Amino acid sequence: MSLINKTQIYTYITFIFMFAIIYYDMLPHKQPDPYINQTPLVFDIKYQSPVRKQEYKKITSPYGLRKNPIKNTGGSENTQHNGIDLSGVYKAEIVAVADGVVKDHWRPEWKGHDLYGGYIIIQHDDGRKSGYAHLSDSYIHEGQRVSAGETIGRMGNTGKSDGQHLHFILWDKQGRTINPLTITNIK
Ligand SMILES: [Zn+2]
Repeated sequence: MSLINKTQIYTYITFIFMFAIIYYDMLPHKQPDPYINQTPLVFDIKYQSPVRKQEYKKITSPYGLRKNPIKNTGGSENTQHNGIDLSGVYKAEIVAVADGVVKDHWRPEWKGHDLYGGYIIIQHDDGRKSGYAHLSDSYIHEGQRVSAGETIGRMGNTGKSDGQHLHFILWDKQGRTINPLTITNIK
């Protein structure tokens, strides 16, 4: 085999590798992360988790923009998930994440909130608010003072929900929703 042929073979091999890499990049595995965080993740953990560690399972849906998986449906391409979804054991106890006062309460046994079913909103002493949705039971009343870690209800599947989970929302002092993971020790 002459030197020229060897060089040609090396060139072909190089090209084959280059095309293989380009082709691999074009394959559908290169889907972008469907979740786009909107708020910068500045962690300042002050609140506890709304689900006790021993009853908590995992985050089933994070906070932020969700790319609509169905394209060309005429609707908005991105949908905003204003909280996080947590799974847990059957009827896991839901606790207040910080001290505060119950501001709003939709009792699960009275049909509850159209979207969120059994739903509690707590106004915290530092100006933030927290929301706990799809509850099966609630143990508080409007205007009641609650302490961090106090049981306020149980995880359920009320309202528009397709399985037992807690939809947990946090609002900052200006009333904007924030990523709960930035200030709660959910893990
Ligand atoms: Zn949710």
